Amino acid sequence: MNIRLYNAYILNQDFDIVFGEVHISDGKIAHIGEPKTNLIWDRNIDMNNSLVLHGFSNCHTHSPMTLLRSYSDDLALADWLNKAIFPIEARMTTEDCYYGTLLAILEYLSGGVIAIGDMYFHQDSIIQACLDSGFKIVGIGSAADINGDTESQLEALEQNYQKYNSYSPLCAYKLGFHAQYTASDNLIQGIARLARKYQDQVCAHLSETREEVQSCITRHKMTPPRYLVKNGVFDFGGSAYHCVHLDKNDIELLKEKNVTIVTNPSSNLKLASGIADIVNYAKKGLKIAIGTDGAASNNSLDMLKEIYLTAVLSKVRNNPTALTAKDVLKMAITNGARALGITSGILKEGNDADLTAISFDLPNMRPINNIINNVVYSSTSKNIILTMIKGKILYEKGEYNIGISADEIYKYCDKAIKRLIQQAN
Ligand SMILES: [Zn+2]
Repeated sequence: MNIRLYNAYILNQDFDIVFGEVHISDGKIAHIGEPKTNLIWDRNIDMNNSLVLHGFSNCHTHSPMTLLRSYSDDLALADWLNKAIFPIEARMTTEDCYYGTLLAILEYLSGGVIAIGDMYFHQDSIIQACLDSGFKIVGIGSAADINGDTESQLEALEQNYQKYNSYSPLCAYKLGFHAQYTASDNLIQGIARLARKYQDQVCAHLSETREEVQSCITRHKMTPPRYLVKNGVFDFGGSAYHCVHLDKNDIELLKEKNVTIVTNPSSNLKLASGIADIVNYAKKGLKIAIGTDGAASNNSLDMLKEIYLTAVLSKVRNNPTALTAKDVLKMAITNGARALGITSGILKEGNDADLTAISFDLPNMRPINNIINNVVYSSTSKNIILTMIKGKILYEKGEYNIGISADEIYKYCDKAIKRLIQQAN
């Protein structure tokens, strides 16, 4: 399939804006810049002065939690999890997770997201939903052994790791566990062994709340990052989700281990966990990427909202000049892509055509004094008009092209959550 996008502003590999064309051939970007007219196109799309940019990587999400959107809100994290979320999750089937993920994919695509890092259970069905849709996913291990099943958790993790790292160019898999507070010493040591065996990264929730940090200090006499680093979990790097409560020593340790911090501002605000001081982390040399977390704690999967919040919260914690709009956009695009490793994060000839387009044809985007500032501070997902993954247009002006209709997905999800609530009560 050869596609020509013309009359476009383009965010190029240096994150500068140029005007011209983007040509896509066999899933790859074939050309960026001046018009070339000697080629035959399957699609010739007038972008009408929209911005074409590499799509966003949502580095921390739990896709099937779309089913739990707005089911239970306005509770503290522990109550919310134990009383509302866990009883429903315990009853979710593989089919529920499949359709919950499809619902999430609709939202990702209409929000410019081209790849996710997803941590949840029933991962076979989650990954399958992404592959069936043509969407990129990195499955993240979600090992937890509060029920004492340490060995089976480690076995399942290793099986998934081996299977999904050679399964499809649209997917990959990273070693991971839910969090230190749902893991025994044996599980943590087992994860570190796998990291050493495969010389690969590990991902986990980390230092999300004050209570979590305090309980780790009580249990292990050290903070969560210190405990994990001491056990060798991050010897080959990784990603840590949330990191709202890091002390000076934690920051140094995570930097030393080359761990990417994935910030989830909406979820941290809504659950009153706090504001991660990402400016300080970045100053100390840590890489920052962005995620939405699940739809039950956010409650949307809108990366543009997270991008906005990442920008403005960094100003509240520091000062208005702490981060520029371009800095934040790089976190959502390039740093995110590097953290996932399944997409390039750079609009460049030869790379996979994983891109999105933002229109300026709505009042919130006019006038165009500064394109990047408009995107970061003013745009919402209603401005996204096209999302393409590996050269295939999966979303265009309100229409999805993922092999199943949005109506069918809505119908299944509405029915599923009604059944789950009934079963849980
Ligand atoms: Zn999470």
